[in-house]
Amino acid sequence: MKTTSLYVPTLALDPEKILKRFLRYASIGTPSDRHLSETQTPSTESQWKLIRLLEQEIMDMGVPSVEVTEHGFLIARIPPYISTLRKKNDMAVPVVAFIAHVDTASDVPGDPVRPMIHRNYDGKRIVLSSGIEIDPVNQPRLSQYIGDTIITSDGTTLLGADDKAGVAALVTALEYLMQHPEVEHGGLEFIFTPDEETGRGMERFPLDRVQAKVAYTLDGDGEGTVEYECFNAYRVVVQCKGVGTHLGYARGKLVNAVTMAASFVSFLPRSESPEATDGRFGYYCPLEINGNITEAKVEIFLRDYEMEEIKRRLQTLESIAKAIEGIFPGGKVTLISEKQYLNMRDAFAQNPQIVQYLDEAIRATGIEPVHTSIRGGTDGARLTELGIPTPNMFAGGSNFHSLTEWVPLSAMVRATEVVIHLVQLWAKG
Ligand SMILES: [Zn+2]
Repeated sequence: MKTTSLYVPTLALDPEKILKRFLRYASIGTPSDRHLSETQTPSTESQWKLIRLLEQEIMDMGVPSVEVTEHGFLIARIPPYISTLRKKNDMAVPVVAFIAHVDTASDVPGDPVRPMIHRNYDGKRIVLSSGIEIDPVNQPRLSQYIGDTIITSDGTTLLGADDKAGVAALVTALEYLMQHPEVEHGGLEFIFTPDEETGRGMERFPLDRVQAKVAYTLDGDGEGTVEYECFNAYRVVVQCKGVGTHLGYARGKLVNAVTMAASFVSFLPRSESPEATDGRFGYYCPLEINGNITEAKVEIFLRDYEMEEIKRRLQTLESIAKAIEGIFPGGKVTLISEKQYLNMRDAFAQNPQIVQYLDEAIRATGIEPVHTSIRGGTDGARLTELGIPTPNMFAGGSNFHSLTEWVPLSAMVRATEVVIHLVQLWAKG
């Protein structure tokens, strides 16, 4: 039979089965909702649909322990298997968790997703049904996949390979382990999480139900990617209080909170915005502004790899607040800041084997790991803070959060293999 994936798996995985599985998950549009996430997890009903499907599929595989929490966290557990010869070391193998998220971003439409399969990719531009094109000139990574099967959406929605590719890889790895009881591993937890994209899902993470001492998220992009450094993230709400009066008699009395909020935003340095920075430079990003004449609110995200820079930006916001109060006498500006997540890199300096094993597992599939820093956060950053160091590895997709998202089948196959190699490396110790 002709293989449809460039990468020839070493573990007898069936690429066509992974493809079908991915299409099944991607076809269930699961955008999460940032506003609804403040009051409920999962924020959207569609995420439940996928969680229930996964629960059924995993139970059908005979996985001995499958649990869904009230907030939609699906945990599938496999007890350790270490051959009798080595049994005395059993206790030394830590429980390892693997995590992928079921929701998709809401930056572009995410439902209904109609995936397109481009078999035997010819290296040229990929034209989607909507007329949108994916051009290898802007997507140099595409040229690595000539002859492969590429999956995209029809161009009217995102594809949701972020993170359905990760979900498909994890379910396939789970299935492989159930079918190959001879493979040695410690205790394993496969966790499927809601509302990653809203940044709020982790607030409901069932820490008391999880035994893992180390975890890996499959939520990265290109093949080989290993990420264990992310931004420090703060959210600041700027509350502007004005003084309302009858507009016809407002001279000298009205203090307009809408104008105050707009002025506040205009003082943010444009050179430190997401659109003006890359690499290791952090930023301020005004995310949302709303209100009326008497009261207006601005929501601002602060991001940086270095905590010192976050502190400097917080001080700058304080200074802007004072300046606005000076320009608008009688008006009041209050800042409420909240930590969202922290750079996780220090946890891995203390436990270097967590990344070393991942590197080794990637090399076992024939490629070199690529270490990069995330210009954002991951669920792993939150878990690391909670005491479970969690680096992020690739799931294989590209152009996340856009209508031109794409994923090569071979990358999903490789991600699956990395997981299977990784559990064995931890068992070997
Ligand atoms: Zn993701």
